[in-house]
Amino acid sequence: MMKVAVFSDTEKVEIREIEKPIPKKGEVLVKVKACALCTWEQRIFKGVSHVPFPFIGGHEVSGIIEELGEDVDENRWKKGQKVALRLLETCGECYYCRMGEQNLCEMIGKKRQNGLAIPGPGGLGEYLTVSSTRLFKIVDDLAFEVGALSEPLACVIHSIQRAHIEIGNDVVIIGAGVMGLFHVMMSKKQAARVIVSEVSEERRRLAKVLGADDTFNPLQEDPIEKIKKITEGRGADVVINTTAISKIAQQATQMVGKTGRVIFYSSQHPDSPISISPDWIHNSEITITGSVSPSISDFQKSTRLLSSRIITPEPLISEVIPFEKVQEAFQKATDPRNYRIIVKMNE
Ligand SMILES: [Zn+2]
Ligand SMILES: [Zn+2]
Repeated sequence: MMKVAVFSDTEKVEIREIEKPIPKKGEVLVKVKACALCTWEQRIFKGVSHVPFPFIGGHEVSGIIEELGEDVDENRWKKGQKVALRLLETCGECYYCRMGEQNLCEMIGKKRQNGLAIPGPGGLGEYLTVSSTRLFKIVDDLAFEVGALSEPLACVIHSIQRAHIEIGNDVVIIGAGVMGLFHVMMSKKQAARVIVSEVSEERRRLAKVLGADDTFNPLQEDPIEKIKKITEGRGADVVINTTAISKIAQQATQMVGKTGRVIFYSSQHPDSPISISPDWIHNSEITITGSVSPSISDFQKSTRLLSSRIITPEPLISEVIPFEKVQEAFQKATDPRNYRIIVKMNE
């Protein structure tokens, strides 16, 4: 038997005992070490997003290999290897998977692939079984809590690649939560000028520490005027909206200049339609696109950036909380003053 944390009701997470999974052919048993609490799980906790209870959350996971199933390559995967897990369930066979766009797989959420008796990605538990194709090595001296951030960084790598940032571009990032701040770090690695729009003074401060060239409060300055002013009237080359507010998505489309790229990074709650001028799109050649989840290659890049310490996301971790206090961890994760809260498993 083993322990898992399950959502059992709105704002209620409890620890239950379930059967410990056994790795099947091609699978590996992973002992979970750390699991970060993403906005998605926070929305489930708060009742904004709905899942059938009971449900095991946790998709930002690091751990170690505990046992190899039959036919797993023993030269590549060894007991004790530190790994990050890609828990998005993808089939490898649909049109999008075959095109390398596994983040858009037709089977996402449709079949359980972690060996657990309760639905959900399953990172908030002691063990998981996954196909070895979903393991990504992280180096020995990388802390598990940092390794658990492989998934959110991979999401941001996907977004940054869709933004096609060129050297010296003006990149506006709306919102400086965890995802906005990851975008700040990654945009700086592309040699962009990074401007952050954020209402919280503390978050603007951290954006600066992490490399933002300019920050402003959109409640004090008109965001569209502000961006026009600092780009000689052109508008930004790239605007990335990391907030869930549709009115801001509308503003994002008005902050971008000719040939610019607008990325709708965050899911929208509620999803209110926005209006847009087709003639402006015609005349400016702007691109409006989305970004959702990481593909396999994004995950590969993410674990390399973390392992090589090219990206050091420690400032985005507000607190590491032991598994027994998972209820408290969720309460803290949903407090807007906090960045990522990490649940750490016992030894
Ligand atoms: Zn996530
Ligand atoms: Zn697929």
